[in-house]
Amino acid sequence: MKFTFLGTGTSHGVPMIGCDCDVCRSTDLRNKRRRCSLYVVTEHQHLIFDTPPDFRDQVLTFGVERVSAIFLTHPHADHIYGFDDVRRFSALQEEHIPVYGSPRTIKQMRKKFDYVDRVSYGFQSVPRVLFTDLTEPIAVGEALVTPLPVSHGQDTIYGFLIEGDGKRLAYIPDCNGIPDETLRLLEKMDAMILDGLRPRPHPTHFSISECAAALKRIGAKRSFITHLTHNSEHHDLQARLGEAVTVPWDGLEITL
Ligand SMILES: [Zn+2]
Ligand SMILES: [Zn+2]
Ligand SMILES: [Zn+2]
Repeated sequence: MKFTFLGTGTSHGVPMIGCDCDVCRSTDLRNKRRRCSLYVVTEHQHLIFDTPPDFRDQVLTFGVERVSAIFLTHPHADHIYGFDDVRRFSALQEEHIPVYGSPRTIKQMRKKFDYVDRVSYGFQSVPRVLFTDLTEPIAVGEALVTPLPVSHGQDTIYGFLIEGDGKRLAYIPDCNGIPDETLRLLEKMDAMILDGLRPRPHPTHFSISECAAALKRIGAKRSFITHLTHNSEHHDLQARLGEAVTVPWDGLEITL
């Protein structure tokens, strides 16, 4: 199993529009963070987790070859508003692409992208997808994807457990609480990617220290923090977190 961080930034992205702080002005590519998305490749499957506003740039920059299925964590703007560009994959692959999310997420997607189901448009002009409510694990070829309910402020949204090629990876980009039932699913993890927004506490995201504590408790072989703000300079944060947690950057590819 191989995965690529397509984006590791918070909803504003880094640099943030109109900010001239040191991190936003940094020329180091590791301080340029697109909105959160993950690309996971197993032996035969190519899975996308969230289609943020930067999706087209991410696909072109980091070489997303094809898309077997899309999984959506929740319908916040920073996770879905690149969705229209999925039409290139349905056109190239000449097929409908399954899109999975919680019933609430799928309902919102049908509303926000109401033109997708209209047959009057040509096949190439809109994303051709199969919106599907996900409440149970689903097999995509040899990969198994299990929804992981987590708290995100007042909402319960999804992270995802991805099993394939004998490896276990979990992706939870937006979260400020992990219920016990979900924690029980996060045993013997090969890799764990978790929201750790910024140094200060936030009502809907784990802070960096809350993220590090949760990652320690989960105890995956490899731990990663994501959904970062301009409050964190890449190298400073990596030095602070030490070997226990990797601070990823856009385009970082990991093979398990
Ligand atoms: Zn987000
Ligand atoms: Zn800034
Ligand atoms: Zn969110």
